[in-house]
Amino acid sequence: MIFTNRREIVEFFRGHGVSPTDQRVEMAYSITRKPDHFKAEDVTHKVNKKLEIVSRATIYNNLSLFVEIGILQMITINPALTFYDSNTQDHFHYFDPLKNTLTDIPIQENLAHTIRSHILANVENKMPIRKTSLPLNVVLHG
Ligand SMILES: [Zn+2]
Repeated sequence: MIFTNRREIVEFFRGHGVSPTDQRVEMAYSITRKPDHFKAEDVTHKVNKKLEIVSRATIYNNLSLFVEIGILQMITINPALTFYDSNTQDHFHYFDPLKNTLTDIPIQENLAHTIRSHILANVENKMPIRKTSLPLNVVLHG
């Protein structure tokens, strides 16, 4: 999700029952001004340039919170490599293993809807829970 100023972030946090602490707002502001992919370590470096030292635990906790409330999406390439994406619109990714980078691949809305419906139908058949939403995360590996 892209925010252009801190006030939008504060309002978004309040709307989701999240306390808009200065540290949390600054962290969100530093990573949501443009669509971007980044790892938790990148956020740690970026945030600690501006703020007093923020612990890794705080960074990870806030990243999880941001995913939970829809500010970021999480893209797991493998158990040791996770990216966060400030672009929360439906899109695919191409993962380049040589550069360790993600590149966005646009997706048509009707294709996203078809894939999501198919996956939801299969999940409902195999699990006793009913999911009403599902983040669509497709990563093509090079
Ligand atoms: Zn992306």
